[in-house]
Amino acid sequence: MINQQHQVSTFSELGLSEPLLKTLEQLNFTTPTPIQIECIPPGIEGRDIIGIAPTGSGKTAAFVLPILNHLWDNPQGMFACVLAPTRELAFQIASQIDALGSAMGARTAVIVGGDEDRVKQAVMLARKPHIVVATPGRLLDHLKVTKGFNLRNIKFLILDEADRLLDSDFGVSVDEILKVIPTERTTYLFSATLTDKVAKLQRANLRNPVKVQVSTKYETVDSLLQYYLLCPLVKKEATLVSLLNSMAQNSIIIFVRTKEHCQRLAVISRILGFRSVPLHGDMSQSQRLGALNQFKSEGSNILIATDIASRGLDIPSVDVVINFDCPTHSKDYIHRVGRTARAGRSGKSILMASQYDIEFVQRLEKVLDKKLDLYPHDPEEAHLLRERVDEAGRVAANQLREDKRAKGDARRRRKPLSSGDRDGEEDLDEVNRFVMKKKRKV
Ligand code: ADP
Ligand code: MG
Repeated sequence: MINQQHQVSTFSELGLSEPLLKTLEQLNFTTPTPIQIECIPPGIEGRDIIGIAPTGSGKTAAFVLPILNHLWDNPQGMFACVLAPTRELAFQIASQIDALGSAMGARTAVIVGGDEDRVKQAVMLARKPHIVVATPGRLLDHLKVTKGFNLRNIKFLILDEADRLLDSDFGVSVDEILKVIPTERTTYLFSATLTDKVAKLQRANLRNPVKVQVSTKYETVDSLLQYYLLCPLVKKEATLVSLLNSMAQNSIIIFVRTKEHCQRLAVISRILGFRSVPLHGDMSQSQRLGALNQFKSEGSNILIATDIASRGLDIPSVDVVINFDCPTHSKDYIHRVGRTARAGRSGKSILMASQYDIEFVQRLEKVLDKKLDLYPHDPEEAHLLRERVDEAGRVAANQLREDKRAKGDARRRRKPLSSGDRDGEEDLDEVNRFVMKKKRKV
């Protein structure tokens, strides 16, 4: 079956309805990608799907198109719920659904946490959108408190970045959501890094799913050139600045481990004249979307981000991903570098490894089954820059201390996670609150 389907070269051969074909043409989606070729027919048949394909290979349309096709046949009420681990990704998926479903009038609602207005969201839900795209924490919140809102009639549940959503920290809220949606439904799990841990996948109660895998586990795309660079920890910031100097024309995402690092590098790079913006979980939602829009619109060419930007974001213009800090897991590396070299484009990634990261690099190469090339750079340049960069670092440290003092302790008391924790754990405030409430009840 697989061989036969690989010869398919148009969307119409996949059995999609007329309005969808028209929209695809308007969007210039002329040829389906391999994951779309493999997923759309079983999707139209109504099967559960586990979809595994590399970053940037069109997984979103692979799950959205079958759902829209079913919606076209049966346009009734709240139809599908898509869960995503980060707010930005939820907005992005919804806009892809809006684009693909425009001709058929598909309506979406985005339900995410943080400072997004709950009342406004409740109004959106009351209008009975066809597809709800949500982060788990806030959706659970609405399921508990918003009168008249439930998911008892949905036909589809999709977990995008499913491995992340089935992780232990999100798992609690996903389990709760699973309890209140019909067991008679179709379920899709999608990710670039979905392992076979059956127990984990069982949480999503799949029914005889089709497993569609167009990549081996932990595969990065061929159009991505992957490098590493060795530099002593004390020279890391100066080395980063020398890299940025050498790539002034490029659009770059720099990944760091903590919110503090993110803020610090943003201040340092600004002082040194770079057009950079930070993106991390301590920013308000409007600041976060603002930063992302600025980066997308090329108002700034450097996005400095924690792992909240590592999954799913589709920004075609990104040329380079720099891992300033090594990620915690090899899996996170795959997602981070997957922000470039998307949809067949080329891209470059540079992993900045200090003396403490050698072991990580070796482990990573094993997982990727690929040797990273040494990035050609001149350590002398970093050496010459060091004094200026260190001075900017001191100014940044002072500024951040001031900011922290101005914010006061109140905010820190409210937060169950310390701000130095690994970032990227979207809406966990809401999940944590829920878990605490539950514990109190027991
Ligand atoms: P993934 O979820 O696999 O990381 P996305 O769904 O975000 O990838 O898709 C990556 C990019 O490719 C998006 O910009 C999307 O619009 C584009 N794309 C997807 N399918 C097609 C197609 N069949 N033809 C052209 N572009 C496509
Ligand atoms: Mg995706």
